[in-house]
Amino acid sequence: MSAPSPCEIAVIGGGPAGLMAAETVARAGLAVTVYDHMPALGRKLLMAGRGGLNLTHSETIAAMLPRYGGAAASLAPCIEAFPPEALTAWCHALGEPTFVGSSGRVFPKSLKASPLLRAWIARLAALGARAALRHRWTGWTESGDLAFATPEGPREVAASAVILACGGASWPRLGSDGAWTGSLPGIAIRPLRPSNCGFTVGWSERFRARFEGQPLKRIALTLDGRTVRGEATITAGGIEGGAIYALSAAIREACPARITIDLRPDLDHATLAAKVNGPRGAQSLSTFLRKAAGLPQVAIGLVQEALHATPPPATDLATLIKSVPLDLLAPAPIDRAISTAGGIAWAELDANLMLRRRPGVFAAGEMLDWEAPTGGYLLQACFSTGAAAGRGVLDWLGHEAVGHATP
Ligand SMILES: Cc1cc2nc3c(=O)[nH]c(=O)nc-3n(C[C@H](O)[C@H](O)[C@H](O)COP(=O)(O)OP(=O)(O)OC[C@H]3O[C@@H](n4cnc5c(N)ncnc54)[C@H](O)[C@@H]3O)c2cc1C
Repeated sequence: MSAPSPCEIAVIGGGPAGLMAAETVARAGLAVTVYDHMPALGRKLLMAGRGGLNLTHSETIAAMLPRYGGAAASLAPCIEAFPPEALTAWCHALGEPTFVGSSGRVFPKSLKASPLLRAWIARLAALGARAALRHRWTGWTESGDLAFATPEGPREVAASAVILACGGASWPRLGSDGAWTGSLPGIAIRPLRPSNCGFTVGWSERFRARFEGQPLKRIALTLDGRTVRGEATITAGGIEGGAIYALSAAIREACPARITIDLRPDLDHATLAAKVNGPRGAQSLSTFLRKAAGLPQVAIGLVQEALHATPPPATDLATLIKSVPLDLLAPAPIDRAISTAGGIAWAELDANLMLRRRPGVFAAGEMLDWEAPTGGYLLQACFSTGAAAGRGVLDWLGHEAVGHATP
C-alpha cells in the first residue's frame, strides 16, 4: 500500500480483522488508512501460515457457533453475514483456492499465508487503501483526534470513523501486545488471558532433561469428564499442543487442575490389562511397557513419573496407562499462547460493533471478548467481525456496503 495522506476512515491494526474492515470500507469507495505500529502488516497472520494457515472449518454454522462458548450469540450475526463459504470464496478470489483437510479444517492449497497476504495488500492498494506503518495508536487528544506515536514524533489524525483491530496479547513480538487496554478509559475490558495455551507442570529434572520437546501422539486427555483426542508436546516447564489447547479454556478456569492422559485410547481396558497386568519376569518396566503395551519412551516416562509420585497411584498398570494423572499448575505465559481470551466487553458494543460510549469508534477481531479452540475458528471470527465493523462504519456514515469479490 502507498504512503499515508489525510484520511476519512482510520483502521488501527493491520491484522486479518483490520485488513478485512479496511477492504469492506474501501470497496464502498471510502478513503481508508490502516495504521499499525509494526514495520509490516499481518505479522501474526504470517506466523499462522507456518502451521498451514487453518482459515476456517467446513462444519455448519450451527455446529461452529458453540465453539465460541458464551460469545456465540454475539458473534453469530457477524459469522452468519460473512460465513466460512464467503471466506473461502474471498480467498479463492485472491488466487488462493482452499481445501478441506481430513479433520474438516479448511486451508489454502499453498498451506501458506504469504501469497494470500501479498495478494490482499495489492488488492487493498488497488482499492485506494493506504497504510501508515510504525504508527502506534495511544488514544485520543483533547480535541478528539487520534493520537499516534511515530519514529518522527507524535502525530494527530482526524477521522470520520475509527475501527480498532489491535488484536489480543499473545506473541507480542508480532505486534499485538495488548497495550491498547490502557487507551480505552471508561470502556469495560475483560482481562486479557492466554487461550489455546500450554500449562506448567512440575516435571522431575530427570523427566524434563530426557523428554523436553518430545511429542505424545495419539493420546486422549480428560478434564472433568470431557475427553479430547490428539497430541501434546512436553516442554521444559510443562506441556502444550493441540489436545491441551482444546481443553485450555476449561483447564485455565480450573487451574491448578488435574487431567488424566490415556496413553492407549485405541485399546480398551480389558485388552490392555491382558497385555500388561501379568508378570513381567526379568524385563525392566521400560522394556516391558514398550513390548507389551507398545508405548513410546516418552509415554513410558510419564507412567514412571506417576509411579514415583507421593503417594504412588493405587491402581493396576493398565488403569494407570489409560488414565495417567497430570497436575497442571498454571497457564504458560500469554506470550506463547496461540490466542487471547478477554477483551472489550460485548455490552460496550452495539449490533454494528460500535462502542456505545464512543460513537464512530468500532472494534473487531481478537480485541473483543471471545475465545475459541484452534480449528480455524479464530481467523473465521476475526475476518467476520472485521467485515461486520466495516459494514457498521458504512451504515453509520449512510453508505451502502458492496459485496466481496468472488472468483
Ligand atoms: C503461532 C500462531 C498460529 C496461529 N494459527 C492460526 C490458525 O492456523 N488458524 C486460526 O484461525 N488462527 C490462528 N492463529 C490466531 C490468529 O493468527 C489470530 O487470531 C489473528 O491473527 C487475530 O487477528 P486480529 O486482526 O484480531 O489481530 P492481529 O493479527 O494480532 O493484528 C493486530 C494488529 O494490530 C497492531 N497493533 C496492536 N496494537 C496497536 C497499536 N496500539 N497501534 C497500532 N497498531 C497496533 C499489531 O501490530 C497487529 O498488526 C494463530 C496464532 C499464532 C500466534
